[in-house]
Amino acid sequence: MKIALVFKSEKVDEKFVSNIKEQIVSRGHQIVDANPEVVIFIGGDGTFLKAVHQFVDNLNNVKFIGLCTGHLGFFFDYAQNDIELLLQDLEKQNYKAVDLHLLKAQVGKQEFYAVNEIRIESPFHSLISEVYVNDEYLETFRGNGLVVCSSIGSTAYNKSLSGAVVSPTVETLQLSEIAPINNVIYSSLHSSLVLDKNSKITLKTKTDNILIGYDQLVSDSHPACSVEFSLSDKKVSLLFKSDYSYIKLLNSKFIGKK
Ligand code: NAP
Ligand code: MN
Repeated sequence: MKIALVFKSEKVDEKFVSNIKEQIVSRGHQIVDANPEVVIFIGGDGTFLKAVHQFVDNLNNVKFIGLCTGHLGFFFDYAQNDIELLLQDLEKQNYKAVDLHLLKAQVGKQEFYAVNEIRIESPFHSLISEVYVNDEYLETFRGNGLVVCSSIGSTAYNKSLSGAVVSPTVETLQLSEIAPINNVIYSSLHSSLVLDKNSKITLKTKTDNILIGYDQLVSDSHPACSVEFSLSDKKVSLLFKSDYSYIKLLNSKFIGKK
């Protein structure tokens, strides 16, 4: 197999990575920088996000699989010392693949893609934005920002905003509010809104200097604009162990009690 490795060199020990490379090569695989069949990401969730953005223009026929080195590791099923097991499972195709459609935000001709969420934020002045769902007017939001997340991203920023946790096998778009102003003059839904995968959310911002955050990345500041959110055709195939269970994952990452 052609395998690419993605890690954050400041966070992972060099010796640890060279040992992994040796094991990959000794099993007859090839380590490549471009056009991999498999991407092994080593680190935490942020490293998975980095890996997806690195290969975002070339996701077809690529599988992603992670080796967790001690972060939260929501996108992982293999622990630090599991490289041999991970390679065996890859070779035997003994895994469960979860397909994740990337979120897309379109601003004029610019396109932004994300695994977890895309955020429209105004850090200094409150953001004012009309919100439309499938071209129907919902509200005029005023507050710090709005977040549109995917199902797999529902446990990230969205969860801090008290949004719903959604199983990744159900494809949804979820709109959540960051610090909404709600009084007799301004009002918004003040709850997270979960929509089906074919929905389109349009934000028409009335304020300048907005930032568009997508996963760990952020755009230059934008003047008032119209942003259209949807689920894109681009999809990531993320591999877990064959006995992967979302409920077990939620228990182990967020609750931690048997
Ligand atoms: P980070 O600051 O390290 O991420 C924050 C935490 O979110 C980390 O513990 C990370 O896990 C975890 N995480 C990432 N995606 C997740 C998911 N889908 N489900 C559950 N937990 C998840 O930054 P980062 O690692 O570059 O990740 C960027 C993401 O951080 C953004 O997409 C956003 O969702 C999240 N974020 C959250 C807040 C907030 O909750 N207030 C604020 C900013 C950003 P690891 O430790 O394994 O990396
Ligand atoms: Mn992180």
